[in-house]
Amino acid sequence: MTPAAGTRIAVYDTTLRDGTQGAGITLSAQDKLRIAEHLDEFGVDYIEGGWPGSNPKDLEFFEQARTHSWRHARVTAFGSTRRPGIAAEHDENLRLILAAGTPTAAVFGKSWDLHVREALRTTLEENLRMIEDSVRYLKSQGLEVVYDAEHFFDGWKGNPDYALATLAAARRGGADVVVLCDTNGGCLPFEIRAGVDAAGGASPGPLGIHTHNDGELGVANTIVAVRAGAVHVQGTVNGIGERCGNANLISVIPNLQLKLGYECVPPASLPRLGELARFVSELANIAPDEYQPFVGKNAFAHKGGIHVSAVMAHPPTYEHIPPEIVGNERRVVVSDLSGRANVLYKAEEMGLDLSKDRPEVRQILTQLKQLEHAGFQFEGAEASFELLVRRTMGQHRPTFTLKGLRVMVEKGPHGEAVAEASIRVSVDGQEEHTAAEGNGPVHALDRALRKALERFYPDIRRVRLVDYKVRVLNADAATAAKVRVLIQSTDGVRTWGTVGVSENVVEASWQALVDSLEYVLLTERIEAFS
Ligand SMILES: [Zn+2]
Repeated sequence: MTPAAGTRIAVYDTTLRDGTQGAGITLSAQDKLRIAEHLDEFGVDYIEGGWPGSNPKDLEFFEQARTHSWRHARVTAFGSTRRPGIAAEHDENLRLILAAGTPTAAVFGKSWDLHVREALRTTLEENLRMIEDSVRYLKSQGLEVVYDAEHFFDGWKGNPDYALATLAAARRGGADVVVLCDTNGGCLPFEIRAGVDAAGGASPGPLGIHTHNDGELGVANTIVAVRAGAVHVQGTVNGIGERCGNANLISVIPNLQLKLGYECVPPASLPRLGELARFVSELANIAPDEYQPFVGKNAFAHKGGIHVSAVMAHPPTYEHIPPEIVGNERRVVVSDLSGRANVLYKAEEMGLDLSKDRPEVRQILTQLKQLEHAGFQFEGAEASFELLVRRTMGQHRPTFTLKGLRVMVEKGPHGEAVAEASIRVSVDGQEEHTAAEGNGPVHALDRALRKALERFYPDIRRVRLVDYKVRVLNADAATAAKVRVLIQSTDGVRTWGTVGVSENVVEASWQALVDSLEYVLLTERIEAFS
């Protein structure tokens, strides 16, 4: 039966266990503890810390977790049912779960007859006893027990009676919740619906759902299971996990809470969803997915001019939810698809008063289209775009004049290359002439320019380059091809992007470098006057 709106749905996070089984993902015990603290503050109900029998890192995590005081979440140790033919109290795996000292245990057992025969190499009856005994034993030790019915949906498709009998065994043992797992991740939503209905009909009691994303349906299958009666959802932050990953809690939670009205986490936590997603990406050392639903940088980005004018007048025209409620923001992208609305929106972001009838709007749009045609791209270079707007509006004069520059690259007999740049600039009639070396021409140029300007503008000492990208635009033209240089700079607080385009890489870099310094000087002046 579909739970009524307002029903509490327990959120069970397995980022630290299933998530770390994803290829290329490693977390130290310290990382795991930090993520667990974050999840606890965020308000998830369960944090599956790992499999204490599997590695020393997990043991270390549980050791530290024992003495930590958790605000809300219950830390959970994971493991399998007892081995065939021995008493539960003599099973090493179960002993390790108890030794982890957690209030909750998750124990997984086989639901698929094929696995019982082929993987466990035991009888169907013994598997049922293994499930019941293991759950009962952990319950007798005072633990809350989550029973994970591994391969439930595949087992149920192959041998429905047996799969349902395994759930009944877990219920007899006293499981607090029985979790139906789509372990291979290949089920379709209607199969999940039928499986949950069957499980609910055969052995009443709280049901949970654990899905994987092999058919890209991890989130959809979780939602369908809740609509069929599951009150406990398992998944990982950003969907990291084995193969194609687990159900992504970063999407599951807002869908359940905002679209269906269930209560998963405290409402005040939802605006921190994006922060949680980025924190886990950071610690797992994965670049955040800019296209990730709800929290990605582009999740609420508007590019086409018609979309932008509509969304500014009435956000629901092209946004499924207001971005702020999941900690995201609306972003308007400037590009040759842009119309007036994009330019006006950006101008407003810059604090400029630019009504749509001003002639500058058309001038800016014309320039933008010409520049993009020439190979410029402002999507990653918002500082260059701001300078373009302010120059057109007569609000920005160059802070220095270039009198001349020279860049030399020298290569010695042993292959070592050195670059040297010398530059002459004037600021309010005063000239400065400097030179600097670098490990390449752009590095040397950057150092020489900043050295020349530091005397006049000491603040630029804090500016440094954090990223430098070169893209060849028309590769067919061989050495005459144009290149686009994108630079990211920082002053330790903000970062900004600038762009340059030329057939000469040094010239393209020069344009981007100049914009970068002009931008920081401009914004400092604005701050000083505001
Ligand atoms: Zn799993």
